[in-house]
Amino acid sequence: MTDSCLFCRIVRGEIPAKIVREDEHTVAFRDIDPKAPTHILVIPKEHVASLDEATDPTLVGRLSLAAAEIARSEGITDGYRTVVNTGAGAGQTVFHLHVHLLGGRKLTWPPG
Ligand code: AMP
Ligand code: ZN
Repeated sequence: MTDSCLFCRIVRGEIPAKIVREDEHTVAFRDIDPKAPTHILVIPKEHVASLDEATDPTLVGRLSLAAAEIARSEGITDGYRTVVNTGAGAGQTVFHLHVHLLGGRKLTWPPG
């Protein structure tokens, strides 16, 4: 946990979020600026700045499996994408590890 981290503040309930799933280790909530009809962020409750700082394979796995569970519960039947932007050069803007779950529209590849 860090005092100023935006996503730690969401975990603590200090900033409102549309939470769709929560368990002992992870929280998932709707992205405030959605890039697809379904755009959900899955984060660890513990502060980890990025995938590059992650050391616990179980925690990283939990994020992916939570995203897959949410995709099913959101009724996404024609595919979805999970994305982890790592580092500013890849577009990471919030330095608390998160998996983007995107679905509900045609997703082109490569993403650009
Ligand atoms: P990234 O650019 O990969 O670090 O992703 C950060 C994501 O967090 C962006 O898609 C933002 O739209 C999203 N975001 C920023 N602030 C909030 C917030 N208060 N609640 C929900 N999503 C947020
Ligand atoms: Zn944090």
